[in-house]
Amino acid sequence: MPTDHLPRQCLGFFPTPLMPLRRLTEQFGGPQLTIKRDDQTGLALGGNKTRKLEFILADALAAGADTIVTAGAAQSNHCRQTAAAAATLGLECHLVLGGHEPAAASGNLLLDQLFGTHIHWTGAHRKGEDIPDIVDYLKSAGKNPYVVPYGGSSELGALSFVAALKELDSQCREYHLSFSHIVFASSSGGTHAGMMLGKKMLAQDCEILGINIDKGESGETPFAQHILELANRSAALIGSDFRFDEKELNLNDDYIGGGYGVVGDAEREAIELLARTEGILLDPVYTGRAMAGLIDLLRRKKFSDTDRVLFWHTGGAPALFAYAETLNISAPPPI
Ligand SMILES: *Cc1c(COP(=O)(O)O)cnc(C)c1O
Repeated sequence: MPTDHLPRQCLGFFPTPLMPLRRLTEQFGGPQLTIKRDDQTGLALGGNKTRKLEFILADALAAGADTIVTAGAAQSNHCRQTAAAAATLGLECHLVLGGHEPAAASGNLLLDQLFGTHIHWTGAHRKGEDIPDIVDYLKSAGKNPYVVPYGGSSELGALSFVAALKELDSQCREYHLSFSHIVFASSSGGTHAGMMLGKKMLAQDCEILGINIDKGESGETPFAQHILELANRSAALIGSDFRFDEKELNLNDDYIGGGYGVVGDAEREAIELLARTEGILLDPVYTGRAMAGLIDLLRRKKFSDTDRVLFWHTGGAPALFAYAETLNISAPPPI
């Protein structure tokens, strides 16, 4: 695999576990359900960004960077993992966070503070629109900043998911497993683009199904087009001839609900169900919504009984603590 030759800075624990979801499978009586635990990547409570950062920060170190700049929402898991990785590597970290500083920090934001990051609040700008100004300022202060794009979804970030599919392939060989579908939360596109490319490079015939969790901003490149372009640029970067068109992209836009980070009944049900049937923590923004989508697809019998569906858990549980009120957790049924 060409990704084997890319520089990679060790930041997490790989391979992440692969586990059967026995009680959940029983509950739906349908296809066999399995989970890939990227919530257990090990870097500061884990998540899919750890994979991306292993490739991206190796590039930053090679470029002689002393400062990392990235952006996200106030409860960004990407920013929390970037902050932790920067601390590990002794790099200064600047986070460009959307919205306004809350009265009290909780969840991921509390952890960002703990890692000693410099936080820049940007009001309505959620996706790093203010990064160029901050980079100019850091340069004028004599620093050598390196920008990690929103969500870590650069070509290198996406290529980390080619490596992730190879990791899964090795586990499948070892345990004699195969999957017909991989379902996951898709938001800045790196995970999705990398899995599409990885599937093709490994010549697998499973369906890569991203559940879109974000409406996007008006004026932005449509998300599907963004994923395809990122997959194509990532392929080109490693000298692969593979190119993708819309027919090959499976992006489900049916579960965006109230928009980014807005918890509705479907997310609440999914989070409670996984906690109560499997003891697994999903998150309110990404995996709760993706699992809600998967549950709906199971109820609508979109899979056949012989399918083997892998839910790729991308992390995010630290945000649960920032959603204590909106989660409004139900009491168990009376005894
Ligand atoms: C960032 C993130 C995603 C989405 O991954 P992308 O590569 O940005 O599409 C999914 N789940 C969690 C928990 C995340 O933090």
